[in-house]
Amino acid sequence: MTAHIDPLLTFLAILGAVYGVTVALYFVYGLAMSWLNDRNPERRIQKGRDGKKRMWVEIRQSMISILVTSTSVAFGLFAQHMGWAWTPWTLTWWNALPLFLLCMVVSDLWFYAAHRLLHTKLFYRHHAWHHRSVAPTAWSHDSMTVVDTALSQAHHTLMVFLIPFPPLIILANRAYDQINGTFGHAGFEYFASPTARFPSPFLCAFFHDQHHSEFRFNYGNYFSFWDRVFGTIAPDYDSRVKGMEGEHPPLHFSAEKPAQPAE
Ligand SMILES: [Zn+2]
Ligand SMILES: [Zn+2]
Repeated sequence: MTAHIDPLLTFLAILGAVYGVTVALYFVYGLAMSWLNDRNPERRIQKGRDGKKRMWVEIRQSMISILVTSTSVAFGLFAQHMGWAWTPWTLTWWNALPLFLLCMVVSDLWFYAAHRLLHTKLFYRHHAWHHRSVAPTAWSHDSMTVVDTALSQAHHTLMVFLIPFPPLIILANRAYDQINGTFGHAGFEYFASPTARFPSPFLCAFFHDQHHSEFRFNYGNYFSFWDRVFGTIAPDYDSRVKGMEGEHPPLHFSAEKPAQPAE
């Protein structure tokens, strides 16, 4: 009897820890992002739109979706623990960064493919909920249906059967995804720069914001790379990032309005 209960308890302990930390990160990142956005209104991407009214609906849905994402992570770690997956590589100072980057590229490829699938006629009904947030906010990232999340976040489980990623790399990738998603949905731009446009594979908040407002382009998560390879990058993405670069005044960290220059 205990032979069955022990693994179950181990799985539940992993799931509980991953879920608890993810929910905490969701609120810490969301509150920090909202605080920063309130002080920098001129950085709003969609000038005439504010998605704030959906905040509570998004938070409620996120509590469900984060449980699905956490289950995917917990399954992956549990499979490694039980010896069902590849024995993880030993993490060292030398391989940490290359493994983290590889984990990001593999995660992004999965997300890209799943996201394209979710935009097909057959699956779109599961993804439509996420697109109700036309002007996304810091609370929108995890506002997804169960099927949407299960598909787009399945890589946390699948990866361990393909590549022996150390558990810490899997967790670091997930924590990074959470902050990346918060910035990517914040609706405010802080990263418009040459590193966010061609030939750089990196992107800025406008990339996914444009996916929400224009719908047919920019399916990637971490990089613009797969969208460029498969021809789904918005034709004006690079030029509009370039246009934003000179537009923004310095960052404000105080609620007071910046002093007006004397007449
Ligand atoms: Zn989409
Ligand atoms: Zn989104």
